[in-house]
Amino acid sequence: RGKVENAMLKLGDKWRARDFGSLGEGKERLQKMMEDSSRCTKCYACIENCPICYCVECSTKKPYLVPPGVLPVPFMFHLIRYAHVSDSCVNCGQCEETCPMEIANSLYMHALQTDMEKMFGHTPGVNMDLPVLALVEEQAERQRLFETGSDQIYDVFK
Ligand code: SF4
Ligand code: SF4
Repeated sequence: RGKVENAMLKLGDKWRARDFGSLGEGKERLQKMMEDSSRCTKCYACIENCPICYCVECSTKKPYLVPPGVLPVPFMFHLIRYAHVSDSCVNCGQCEETCPMEIANSLYMHALQTDMEKMFGHTPGVNMDLPVLALVEEQAERQRLFETGSDQIYDVFK
């Protein structure tokens, strides 16, 4: 069993390297994500099927953040998801599997999650302590950003 597991893990690493490689780095990656997600029709399947999304009041439904009835959907819709879930995504693939527009949602989220894991050392689904964004109290974080100008927590696209 150990041998089979090792072989599967190696295969997973190989595919991950290939998939992340196709995304490029930094701003190039961001550009790709923005272009691909511009096809989104805001059907909410990615949100409804995500085992990590649990907010009762979803920020993507607040009109001052994501204006209703606007297509293409403003990138803010996806930014909200990345900001809320990227620290705790378990790469289950549901947000991609159920997307009618075949947007590579779980690949983008998993790429962000692995960056967060390198930065903060939290492995979702393995570590039993809270993920890093769960520790961020919104008002305190806004105040810190205002006072210091430091956006280190969200500075994933350098
Ligand atoms: S891959 Fe991550 S973001 Fe997508 S549905 Fe699964 S846990 Fe949620
Ligand atoms: S499932 Fe796809 S089309 Fe639907 S809201 Fe999510 S990204 Fe947009």
